[in-house]
Amino acid sequence: METHAFQAETQKLLGLMIHSLYSNKEVFLRELISNASDALDRRRFQALQNPALAAEGELAIELIADRAARTLTIADNGIGMSRADLIEHLGTIARSGTLEFLKRTNEGGEAAPDLIGQFGVGFYASFMVADEVEVVSRRAGEEAATRWISKGAGEYGLEDASRDAAGTTIRLHLKAVDSEAGIADFCDEWVLRQVVRKYSDFVAYPIRLTLIEPAKPAAEDATSEGSDASAAGPGELPTHRSIDAPLNSMKAIWTRPEGEVDAADFDAFYKHITRDPADPMLRVSTSIEGNFEARALLFVPARAPYDLYHRERRHNGVQLYVRRVFIMDECRELLPDWLRFVRGVVDAEDLSLNVSREMLQQDRQIQAIRKHLVKKVVDRLKKLLQDDREAYEKFWVEFGPVVKEGLLDYGEDRERIFDLVLAPSSADETKLVSLAEYVERMPAGQDAIYYLAGPKLDVLRRSPHLEAFREKGIEVLFFVDPVDEVWAGQGPGQYKDKPWKSVGHGEALLGDDDEKAKKKEELEKREADLSNLLQALRSAIQDDVKEVRLSGRLKASAACLVHEEGDLSPALEAMLRQAGQAIPERKPILELNPGHPVLERLSARFEADPADPRIAESARLLFGQAVLAEGGQLDDPSGFAELVNGLMAQTL
Ligand code: ADP
Repeated sequence: METHAFQAETQKLLGLMIHSLYSNKEVFLRELISNASDALDRRRFQALQNPALAAEGELAIELIADRAARTLTIADNGIGMSRADLIEHLGTIARSGTLEFLKRTNEGGEAAPDLIGQFGVGFYASFMVADEVEVVSRRAGEEAATRWISKGAGEYGLEDASRDAAGTTIRLHLKAVDSEAGIADFCDEWVLRQVVRKYSDFVAYPIRLTLIEPAKPAAEDATSEGSDASAAGPGELPTHRSIDAPLNSMKAIWTRPEGEVDAADFDAFYKHITRDPADPMLRVSTSIEGNFEARALLFVPARAPYDLYHRERRHNGVQLYVRRVFIMDECRELLPDWLRFVRGVVDAEDLSLNVSREMLQQDRQIQAIRKHLVKKVVDRLKKLLQDDREAYEKFWVEFGPVVKEGLLDYGEDRERIFDLVLAPSSADETKLVSLAEYVERMPAGQDAIYYLAGPKLDVLRRSPHLEAFREKGIEVLFFVDPVDEVWAGQGPGQYKDKPWKSVGHGEALLGDDDEKAKKKEELEKREADLSNLLQALRSAIQDDVKEVRLSGRLKASAACLVHEEGDLSPALEAMLRQAGQAIPERKPILELNPGHPVLERLSARFEADPADPRIAESARLLFGQAVLAEGGQLDDPSGFAELVNGLMAQTL
């Protein structure tokens, strides 16, 4: 036997498992059965391409409980593992979720063991219930088999072994029963039945049970449960009792009429395919009839997975079946990226069993199914928005930023995505508004959807840009997710025939046409009067702004920065620059409040002495505070502080 050390992370994880206070230790069986089921899926799939890899007998999972030896064995005739596979898969942690799990337990300290159920740490969960784990595996297509054995301490042993056929056998040397620690009698028929039914009923392969009962003195028979009284007598050999009917129902739940299935069974199915311990938030069950037929059973998880924004997400998309035969996991072609959090199963009637990922991209049927699924999911979410606002808001908090990624794609039906959008607004600090609600309560004469995008909600809420809108009673929507700056910056188009307008861009003149015309005239007139002052201010800060003009949007503040219609917002510009894009420098416009005393005093000062250095200083002060009010950063903060201090010294 050759010994190998576990990779450092694996050791850490094993330690956690062994000392776990986690009460739900029975989930180890779910993890092992899921692994077996995956291995069977892989074997079936590979055999489609290479018939030599097909199993001789029925693909199945076998449990063997040996009461006297106190072992539980889980065997499958799936794809199996070679020696190298064993080292790679059972000696190191491959899955990113597990590393994340470890990170969180490090942060979380004592309470952490509950996370085990949340992350589903797979094979290593065996060490919660076993002192020693022995794996014998043979890869399909190979002759050699290997034994892997470990007590869960720092190392594992490997040696050559033999196995009649390809597959994997995992034997657990069970710890003593300890109901307080959640270690039930995992050799007991009824315990096993119940755990399998609870977590693995939908596994598509039969899970069969064989019980090896110790021979017992006749007197004890009457009280010991699960033993076969007629078969065992004093001094006899242990009995083998195979239970014929599989422990699981194996029903393809999506083929059954929705009304005939318990909600709890749907939830259990969801947990089986996703390994998410929480119930899903939403279920969408649909069938497509007509030219091609397909059924789908989809779920929206209650919580966003930790890797929702990772490029190389492991768990993505839905499973594809063809006529009840599993084809592939994580079929991304069936849903757009902005619905990548949706999980579930799609079962198509007319696809070839040999369909490959490359073929899927062009397949017309897949495109048609995808279109149908998008519509169904969106409709279901819209219904949730109508029926249960609180639940919808939870959904939106979890997945809203992902949904809005759909707005970046001009090929998508934006109106449909906009129907799902919620946003904070200037009307109420505590509520989110849907766009439909916003449009509905727009006052007569308001002809655009006004919004402000930026990284921080409280900065937006206090933005000087809102002043005139507030006064007019016009609601402004706030968008604070990074993705918002991008879709808004691209030109968001229209919603319900209303154009989108950023309150930080272009000229802001509110009211009906007459009012606007009047205001414009007034502003132009005052601008003409003050043109020399505005010129002087501009030349003091000409590196920073492209224009200094009077504002129609300010009521209380003295100044603000605005951008030309169509310009990127400052936060988006910064983001794109950081991403390495060459963004041409675009300067903002400094707008001044014509009704503010500062402007009056400046104007008087300018009349008295156009060369007064305080004019240029004021320009820099006005510009600086406008930058800060936007949540922006000053190029020369200490220079700005000096100016402010100088001013304080004068006035105090
Ligand atoms: P996960 O199943 O999430 O990948 P595990 O730690 O449970 O994490 O398993 C690690 C890997 O070991 C699996 O991805 C798989 O490649 C391999 N494996 C585990 N159990 C089996 C099995 N019964 N048959 C074949 N391979 C298996």
